[in-house]
Amino acid sequence: MTSIAPGIEFTDAEQQSMYELYRELHASPELSMQESGTAKHLAERLQRLGLETFSCGGTGVVGILRNGDGPVVGYRADTDALPIQEDTGLDFASSAKGNLADGTEVPVMHACGHDTHMAVALTAAELLAGAKNAWAGTVVFLLQPGEEIGAGARAMVADGLWDKAPKPEVIYGQHVWPIQAGTVNISSGTAMAMSDSWKVTVQGRQAHGSQPEQSIDPIVLAAHMVVRIQTIVSREVHPMKSAVITIGTFHSGLKENIIPDSAEFTLNVRTFDQDVRKQVLDALRRIIKAESAASEAPEAVIEELYSFPRCYNDPMTADRLIEQLRGALGNEAVSEVPPVMGSEDFGLLAEAIGVPSVYWMFGAYKQERLEADAPLPGNHSPHFAPDYEPALTTGVHAAMAAILGTVGEQRQNR
Ligand SMILES: [Zn+2]
Ligand SMILES: [Zn+2]
Repeated sequence: MTSIAPGIEFTDAEQQSMYELYRELHASPELSMQESGTAKHLAERLQRLGLETFSCGGTGVVGILRNGDGPVVGYRADTDALPIQEDTGLDFASSAKGNLADGTEVPVMHACGHDTHMAVALTAAELLAGAKNAWAGTVVFLLQPGEEIGAGARAMVADGLWDKAPKPEVIYGQHVWPIQAGTVNISSGTAMAMSDSWKVTVQGRQAHGSQPEQSIDPIVLAAHMVVRIQTIVSREVHPMKSAVITIGTFHSGLKENIIPDSAEFTLNVRTFDQDVRKQVLDALRRIIKAESAASEAPEAVIEELYSFPRCYNDPMTADRLIEQLRGALGNEAVSEVPPVMGSEDFGLLAEAIGVPSVYWMFGAYKQERLEADAPLPGNHSPHFAPDYEPALTTGVHAAMAAILGTVGEQRQNR
């Protein structure tokens, strides 16, 4: 038994049921925007706790916990998994399969820890539903699909999320991270980068490998693009500004003596400022176009794949939350950290209604594992296996501190 706040106990039975829920969710992951089994499971559990629920944005679920007059607070957890073959050796490891958009069958794993996010959110709902004397107001649980492809938050907003759910005055969310369980990392102001992903298809002219004069070699052309693109950050962006450009895939050709007719690469851009983002994307378009022209090739085709907004923690709300988290987890447990180059679509949910939001990281690993010599797998690794008992408990304490920090005050003021 742990005390969460005056009047809210976290019993051993509730903790055991949280661990069990986590193991169930971990064993049954689903790919982005295909989380229908997960959505059904979550909606049923929320209904059993007495929440109103509705589905939103395809496989999203919204749960509304009403408890009289008071502030409205939003709490978001993402629900999707990744196309990764799990290699954790856990006895509840996933053997699930899924299909990518093009139909390819792939293994599926909760390798980003969104299963911990769901287990924490459902447990917070259970604790709040069971202690209605300890707070007043409304909590809106946003169980968001498709985070990994930047699609879910946008889909929920487009599906009329804020016409159907009460509008919160603030929205909170958190992510499990390879730091010590029991601790959280939080930023005030910019927390995570914007992210843009493109696919570039470079057209050449096919010919026999012995007859380059007949060809426009798309491999040489695309290679020039890749190299020239490296100069955007090093030679164009202001040295005191941050940007990352990564070319993550490059494919062309089938045989060594055929000059192929096309090449294809995908790239990802991370930035913190809108003006730097525009500068980098403009430079990419300029270089891709000009290199095609330099080879007398047709202009390469750019397809925009994903775009994530900046994740911005409203400084006033974040500073207040930092105090609340210190109260719940201890002074030493809360670190203020600089922004990270990772990305999230969380910010869109609050941006859509112009309210503040705060996002933070909670610890995945026991101290012993952090101190051991072995390298520790991070998010998106096939070996990512948080020490889920302390990690989930940390997540619940942090979620409850944030939610009660908004709806708990009301009770004392009544
Ligand atoms: Zn992820
Ligand atoms: Zn994630």
